[in-house]
Amino acid sequence: MPEKIENIYYPLPAKVTNIIDETPTIKTYRFKLNEPFTFRAGQFVQLTVPNYGEAPFTPSSKPGTSDELEITILNAGRLTEILHNKTIEGDTLGIRGPFGKGYPMDKFKGHNVLVVGGGVGLAPLRSGLYSLFENVDELKRISIKYGARSPNDQVFRYQYEEWSKMPKTDLSLAIDVPYPGWSGTVGVVTVLLDNLDIDIPNTYVVSCGPEIMLKFVTYKLLDLGFKPEQIYLSMNRRMSCGLGLCHRCNIGPYYLCKDGPDMCYAKIKDYPNVFS
Ligand SMILES: Cc1cc2nc3c(=O)[nH]c(=O)nc-3n(C[C@H](O)[C@H](O)[C@H](O)COP(=O)(O)OP(=O)(O)OC[C@H]3O[C@@H](n4cnc5c(N)ncnc54)[C@H](O)[C@@H]3O)c2cc1C
Repeated sequence: MPEKIENIYYPLPAKVTNIIDETPTIKTYRFKLNEPFTFRAGQFVQLTVPNYGEAPFTPSSKPGTSDELEITILNAGRLTEILHNKTIEGDTLGIRGPFGKGYPMDKFKGHNVLVVGGGVGLAPLRSGLYSLFENVDELKRISIKYGARSPNDQVFRYQYEEWSKMPKTDLSLAIDVPYPGWSGTVGVVTVLLDNLDIDIPNTYVVSCGPEIMLKFVTYKLLDLGFKPEQIYLSMNRRMSCGLGLCHRCNIGPYYLCKDGPDMCYAKIKDYPNVFS
């Protein structure tokens, strides 16, 4: 039996056991690892595609310890295109991590949690939702607001009914522009924050999506009376090492890879490059 290599740069072999087509540009990959892997909701991993490199992703599956892991991936460029077009079930990729702090779940106890996602941003939030559902007895309410370009661009559609029926939980959806057969809300995700029926002083917000969305969600929340201390943003900007060594992901003194990627807006709001 070869000696186990304890090296932070050494990826754990991860066999692709299932690939789910979520939308024309987003797929969920299920992996079987050859040893148990532990992560907290919101922590991220580096996924290695042999011969092509690695990129950071936040698992979309249930946090905790398991030899299975899911990652939901948008085809955004060089590495993700290889994943989408060349990776098949049975292939072995690599995973190293977990990195970052993840969501401050303890802080949410006794409060409402407002989850605001856009596009593939619902993927990192799904691991948070699993944690919230598991601890729902300690929460007041879970309110999910999700925006996508069209119904065909919504991820995890097969779970919406189940989520809506979870105790103390409500789910609202919006699509950007009218679409045949869609009778729900139309507009960017911030429209779902209009007429928000929630006790604002007792609510924490977690949000993940494109940077432009995070910016407008944050400004809207502040207008509504949320304090910066109540807002947690998944700042998924470019990262490389995941260890705070390569200096590619900092906002002021914070390294998003080790201090985030979910950052309290109060900590970062005064630095110039928050929403680049
Ligand atoms: C902590 C963290 C968690 C993430 N979780 C997920 C996830 O769950 N699902 C998912 O689909 N993606 C996630 N991402 C984004 C993902 O890492 C990038 O889409 C991926 O690295 C793109 O690699 P690529 O080689 O395919 O694209 P590249 O060829 O490197 O880039 C394609 C284009 O996307 C831009 N780009 C690449 N990475 C980023 C980034 N991080 N932020 C802004 N623009 C970028 C490039 O500038 C370029 O314009 C996460 C990123 C971080 C940092």
